Amino acid sequence: MFGFLKNKLKKSVDALAEKAEKEQHETSEENGQAEDKPMEKKGFFRKIKEKEFSGKEIDDFFASVETELMQANLALEVIDYLKNGLKSELAGKPVKRNDAKKVIRDTFEKILLEIVSQKGASIPEIIKRFRKEGRPATILFLGYNGSGKTTTIAKICSLLMKDGIKPVLAAADTFRAASIEQLEVHGNRLGLKVVKHKYGADPAAVIFDARKHAESKKLDVVMADSAGRMHTNVNLMDELKKIVRVNKPDMKVLVVDSLTGNDVVSQVRTYSEEIGIDGIVLTKMDVNEKGGSILSACYVSKKPILYIGTGQEYKCIEEFKPESFVKNLLGD
Ligand code: GDP
Repeated sequence: MFGFLKNKLKKSVDALAEKAEKEQHETSEENGQAEDKPMEKKGFFRKIKEKEFSGKEIDDFFASVETELMQANLALEVIDYLKNGLKSELAGKPVKRNDAKKVIRDTFEKILLEIVSQKGASIPEIIKRFRKEGRPATILFLGYNGSGKTTTIAKICSLLMKDGIKPVLAAADTFRAASIEQLEVHGNRLGLKVVKHKYGADPAAVIFDARKHAESKKLDVVMADSAGRMHTNVNLMDELKKIVRVNKPDMKVLVVDSLTGNDVVSQVRTYSEEIGIDGIVLTKMDVNEKGGSILSACYVSKKPILYIGTGQEYKCIEEFKPESFVKNLLGD
């Protein structure tokens, strides 16, 4: 996974390291002629052992790789953050020649980790917190049609059930033809109750009823689907705001199709600003080698990636682990 992004990052680390090593090599040749001059020889040793990047060198370097990094779905603001991070960590500080590659790689690692390590509770943590209080949690899933929202809800239910958690599904996308049936297909497969109303009904009322059901049956969590027409549709945002106002969900999870590339950023931004989100699931990573959307989504929302979707089956979902993601990107 993420082969394309890995390749672009590796190339960046290697190119910067090579820059450090090559310049020192040239310096070494220049000074090599001065072997019989002890004073210059002293300078020669200092120079060949260390490289000091200037801020401009780092700026120039990023200008040269910016397009490639953007092709891996890294948003421009993420590239800027990476560049500024490298400048504050590296510029004006001598780096030992032999260490250059490791220092540069580790600096990339530190900054990338900062981006993806956003604080926030996981779905099981929220559910368990509410279970202790003796009431079901309500988790609202948001996202465009086709993002993989319904499938993701089913996948997460399947994971939660393995952990002894009892969900109920709320068919609160009352706009799209077939969405209720689609959720019912998953409900039947998983053996879960689906609380539903008619098409066109008030989605807030569906979630309200699902909560009542969960309370009376001592279930742990209401997993609520929601409508997902285009995010530019103002009415959709108004509808979602109403659901949030009425139901006060304990967690709002945005499901985004990673294949939408750089549009991931605008979706994340719209939902964050309009509705407010607590976490993100990025789907279809199995067919997306780019991977930069993970960094972009975290950076823009300042919220954690909870899971990534890695296929169409229920088992195809992975908890997102920031450290292993970054280590996997940069290699050892
Ligand atoms: P919704 O409209 O947002 O509810 O989207 P669906 O859950 O119906 O998913 C749309 C399509 O994407 C379906 O064909 C799913 O099987 C597929 N899908 C969902 N998640 C993934 C994933 O992680 N990987 C792949 N390859 N397909 C996925």
